[in-house]
Amino acid sequence: MDINKSIDQELQATKEELEATKKELEKQKNDYQYLLAMLENLPNPIFMKDENAKFVFFNKKYAEFFGMDRSEYLGKDVLSLDYLSLEARQRYQEEDLALIESGQVIDYEADYTGADGEVHPSMYWSHGIYDSVTNRKGLIGEIVDISKEKRLREDLMHYSRELHDANLKLEKIAEIDPGTGVYNRLLLNRLQEEDSAGKSPKLKAACALLLDIDFFKNVNDTYGHIVGDKVLKQFAQMLQTESREHDVPIRYGGDEFILLINNADIETGKRIAERLRNRCANEIVLPDGSHITCSIGVTELSPNQTLSEIISVLDKNLYEAKIVRNTVIAK
Ligand code: GH3
Ligand code: MG
Repeated sequence: MDINKSIDQELQATKEELEATKKELEKQKNDYQYLLAMLENLPNPIFMKDENAKFVFFNKKYAEFFGMDRSEYLGKDVLSLDYLSLEARQRYQEEDLALIESGQVIDYEADYTGADGEVHPSMYWSHGIYDSVTNRKGLIGEIVDISKEKRLREDLMHYSRELHDANLKLEKIAEIDPGTGVYNRLLLNRLQEEDSAGKSPKLKAACALLLDIDFFKNVNDTYGHIVGDKVLKQFAQMLQTESREHDVPIRYGGDEFILLINNADIETGKRIAERLRNRCANEIVLPDGSHITCSIGVTELSPNQTLSEIISVLDKNLYEAKIVRNTVIAK
């Protein structure tokens, strides 16, 4: 047996084994680099820390976001981030160590001042890791800059507030009769709805007047619709000037108006109706110098009365007043 030959063979085998191990190591290194390159290019700032909460990796985005140089900060913990206040550094360090120990996940919104000097509202997420293969603990974290989303959210809230205000204004405008400037029927419907919901006291402890101009059709027929419109406006103005703060003048339709008088009994309602009847007969003058008159039905509202019940009583009283005209019927 040739000893030299056998040594040569063993050497050859060891060399081949070493070569294979070297190749395997190179492959592992390559895989490791490849993995880092992937993480490196993630769009959000991410970082990894070891069991002592020291940086083992942070990606390009993280370095840019905080202006951190990898050669300076890898291997260091958050306590060495001197751009943070001491209080913040200590708090983050405690948080990191607790997460590494517990293996828990946390996330919260935080404002970070970036390397650009701007404050970035962000979502911070980090997770304590335990790897059973290497038996090592660590921490991985991510920051998501939500400045844009927050601005959008704020814009959206601003626009939705504006829209809400505009809608309220539109609803108010829709409740006004453009011909006379007093409320229209829509307001009555709303008061009825609010009343059923127990929100509006307007249809309670009140008196209601239903007023109708006498022979108004003649005004149109004799002087035309423009004069007719003016008369309606003057009539509505008269109701407005007679209204106190919580009274509500409403054009019910055509030449019919309702006046809700707050906090009044039937006697008060009747007195106000008489005053209006008189004012109408004296103040509203037609082109030939003659006056118009109106008839008025009055009722006192009782609790739980519906709008249609109120209107029905008012209609009956007005109908009675119309028999004579220029009259008030209150009951
Ligand atoms: P009565 O004494 O019974 O109340 O008679 P009247 O003529 O006042 O009543 P009628 O209901 O017959 O007529 C009301 C008129 O009001 C009919 C309609 O042409 C007119 N009218 C309704 N709305 C308007 C309006 O906006 N402008 C004008 N100029 N006229 C209107
Ligand atoms: Mg009329």
